Amino acid sequence: MNKIILIFFGPPGSGKGTQVELLLQKTNWHELSIGSLLRHEIEKASKVGKLANKYIKDGKLVPDEVIKKILEKFLKKEVGTKNLVLDGYPRDQQQQSDLIKMLLKSIKSGTQIYAIEISLSDKEVKERLCGRYACYCGEVFHLKYNPPKKPGICDNCGKKLFIRTDDKPKIIATRLKIYHKEIGLLLDYWRKAGKLIKINGEQSINKVFKDLVSQLKKNKLL
Ligand code: AMP
Repeated sequence: MNKIILIFFGPPGSGKGTQVELLLQKTNWHELSIGSLLRHEIEKASKVGKLANKYIKDGKLVPDEVIKKILEKFLKKEVGTKNLVLDGYPRDQQQQSDLIKMLLKSIKSGTQIYAIEISLSDKEVKERLCGRYACYCGEVFHLKYNPPKKPGICDNCGKKLFIRTDDKPKIIATRLKIYHKEIGLLLDYWRKAGKLIKINGEQSINKVFKDLVSQLKKNKLL
């Protein structure tokens, strides 16, 4: 079977990470989430983590040279022949063109690459991000939509949950501005290639996942 690469797009809070987690539970695919790799570096207080945190806490994109280092480390270790899901990369045109070059060099012919857009209004983004709790293991919870079983504790690993420094209203506004500035052209590329699958993100987690699975099946990706 040919290798599959899915690239998830969606504004912050659209539930990309949650949908990717559900997909990984159903398959043996690999995930690349730059945001989560960066949060690991911040937790370890590494040099990269300290540098990245300066940008993340202000809702800005981390400079490309840092992202490239993280990406190269990941690609060397993890990729192999498994299918791959990208969450949070690419985020601008430079990253998209780097990614396409990298994929063209390293993938076998026949690899299927699709972009998945999870759409959500700005109003809903703001509502969702206030009340979101994260864990360093990658799990995400929400006080209203997806509360943890024990308040403040991760269901998955038992660690203490935290509110992301970039989930504050002013920072959310910056992140949304960057997202809207960059995303149109990135999505156009995949739309023109006939490789864009759009999912309505303003539904329950289970319904979004149901739609995602049905679209993947329709396109013979599952
Ligand atoms: P996320 O977990 O995808 O919402 O990412 C959280 C933060 O990590 C973003 O707001 C950026 O500061 C940083 N980040 C994640 N992915 C990238 C990327 N591809 N390029 C630059 N910065 C990124």
